[in-house]
Amino acid sequence: MNFLITGAAGFLGSSLANHLAREGHQVRGLDDLSTGDPQALAPDVHFTRGDVADRPKLWTLLQDVEVVYHLAARVSVPESMVYPRDYNAVNVGGTVALMEALRDVGIKRVVLASSGAVYGDLDQQPLEETSTPLPRSPYAVSKLAAEYYVRTIGSLWNIETVSLRIFNAYGPGQQNPASHPPVIPHYLQQALRGGTLVSHGSGDQSRDYVFVDDVVSAMVAASTAPGVNGLVINIGSGVETTIKGLVRLVLDVSGSNSNVVYHTQTSGGVTRMQADLTLAREKLRYHPSIKLEEGLRLTLKRDPRFNTFPQVA
Ligand code: NAD
Repeated sequence: MNFLITGAAGFLGSSLANHLAREGHQVRGLDDLSTGDPQALAPDVHFTRGDVADRPKLWTLLQDVEVVYHLAARVSVPESMVYPRDYNAVNVGGTVALMEALRDVGIKRVVLASSGAVYGDLDQQPLEETSTPLPRSPYAVSKLAAEYYVRTIGSLWNIETVSLRIFNAYGPGQQNPASHPPVIPHYLQQALRGGTLVSHGSGDQSRDYVFVDDVVSAMVAASTAPGVNGLVINIGSGVETTIKGLVRLVLDVSGSNSNVVYHTQTSGGVTRMQADLTLAREKLRYHPSIKLEEGLRLTLKRDPRFNTFPQVA
C-alpha cells in the first residue's frame, strides 16, 4: 500500500515508517523537523521536510496515497501550558489544513494519533472511550479538538477516520529534550548516570505505559480494519503502573542505586490513567504483548543512547 505519515521523523512516526517500509509498503514521510530527526528513518522511506499545513507540498505528497497517518504535533503537556496558542495552531490548525488537502486529493482513510491525555483526571478507571473527556492541559484540548475535526470533516467529505487515543508510549528513539523530558527516557538516563530520579508528584500517580512496537501494531491494524470509521480507540498496555513502581523497575533493569525524590505537586494534574482495551481488542485485534519490564530492557538494548553505558553493553 501507499502511505503518507506526517510527523514521520518523530519517535512514533519513524518507528511506524520504518516498520511499514520493512513490510514492503511505499512510505512517504513529512516533518518540519521542529523536533524530529530524519536520520531515524530508513533509506527507503521517502522523506520531505515541510509543514503539515503546506497545501502545495501536501498535494504533491498525497498523489496515489491510500492511507494517511497524522502524527505531526507539538507533544509536551507542560510546554502547552506556556504556549497554548502554538499548540492550537499546530495540533488543531495543522489537522484542519491536512483534512482540507485530503478532501482535495480524495484520500480514503486517515488515522489520527490522539492521546489518552484527553480524558483528564477521571475517577473511573480503566478509562473507556465512552467516558466524557475533561482535558487538563492545552495539549489535551488540542488533541480532543483534532479528534472532533477529523471525524466531523471526514463524515462531511467521505474520508474514513480513526483516532487512536495513545497512552504513554515509550521505547527506543523517544526524544528526551532537557526542557520537558518524557519520564521513561529521562529516568533511564538518570539511573545509568547515577543521577537523582525526581517525581513531580507523590509517586502514587499512575500511568499506562505502552511499548512502541505495540503502538505500531495498533496503527498498522487501523489502516485497514473494517468497521472503525469515526471511532476513537484506546491504545495502551491496559496496565496501571505508579511512578514508584516505574522507579523500582528502572533501577532494577539499569542496575542503579540512584536516589529518588518525590515532590507533592502532581504532573499535568492527572493522578491515574489506565486504558480499557475492549474496543481495541474487538476492532483492531489489538493485544499488547510487551510488559513494562521487558520494554525497558528492550529500550536499553536497542537505543544507541543507552547501550553504550557499561551497565547495558
Ligand atoms: P515527536 O515529537 O517525537 O513527533 C512529532 C513530530 O511532529 C516531530 O518529528 C516534529 O518535528 C513533527 N512536527 C511538529 N510540528 C510539525 C508541523 N507543523 N509540521 C510537520 N511536522 C511537525 O512525538 P511522538 O511521541 O512521536 O508523537 C507522535 C504523535 O503521537 C503526536 O501526535 C502525539 O500527540 C501522539 N501521541 C504520542 C504519545 C507518546 O506517548 N509518545 C502519546 C499519545 C499521543
